[in-house]
Amino acid sequence: MQTNLISKGNVKLLEAPNINSTGLAIAYFSTRKGGISTGENGEMNLNLFKPNDRENSDENFKIFCSSIGIDPQSLVLGREKHTANIRIVDRDFCKTDFFAKGDENIYEYFDAQITNDNEVTLFVYSSDCSVFLFFDPVKKVIATTHAGWKGSLNGIIPKTISKMTEYFDVNPADLFVAVGPNIKQCCFEVDKPVCDEFLSYDNEFKKYIVEKNDKFHIDLDGINTELIVKSGIKPENIANNTHCTMCEEEMFHSYRRCKGNNGVNGAVIKLL
Ligand SMILES: [Zn+2]
Repeated sequence: MQTNLISKGNVKLLEAPNINSTGLAIAYFSTRKGGISTGENGEMNLNLFKPNDRENSDENFKIFCSSIGIDPQSLVLGREKHTANIRIVDRDFCKTDFFAKGDENIYEYFDAQITNDNEVTLFVYSSDCSVFLFFDPVKKVIATTHAGWKGSLNGIIPKTISKMTEYFDVNPADLFVAVGPNIKQCCFEVDKPVCDEFLSYDNEFKKYIVEKNDKFHIDLDGINTELIVKSGIKPENIANNTHCTMCEEEMFHSYRRCKGNNGVNGAVIKLL
């Protein structure tokens, strides 16, 4: 199953059909289309943590949320840093003004969040890294995970799923997962030391690695999907996509393409 590109006014989004069709939750990924930022941040930059485009970015959050009918003050996000830190959140996390959180949360690093509170919209951002939206329609629990290659090798994906089971008695076989746009094998080129880290995690990952001119191209989607399925999630419950954030300059922000001077893409999931 694939995520679908849709338009809400000027805003273009990817929606997760496996989650949204249940009528019990909504899940969307942003594209660059529909915001007010310009240049390499343009248009839809959803970045609460970089000061250079904060005013536009705050307005973009309002436009993005309005397009899908949610209140920006319901958004809860963690500051991401390729950790395996996971937190359980609820509506108390919405008490602070969302737009003040860029400063307040600066020392808190969480790459995954879980909630069963239908007043909370979980938000996760990325610019090449993979993001995952999880939904359990039985226990009514949602989660977000941000996983660059370091996060994947830190085990953040299976750890998120385990924590959903530990706290909310989630059965992984019930879970739906939507995967956001990320850097694909065409562009995710690494040197041998990074390649070796993947192989030392699991030598079977060599089937996801192609060598080209002494560099290595890694299929992160292949590896992450394997990690998800090994955690007990059914392959048919996963919605993925073929969008490469680095190749598709018109549609997605990319850290590698802009050498760090980039805007960021966002993703949301909320229980209805
Ligand atoms: Zn590419």
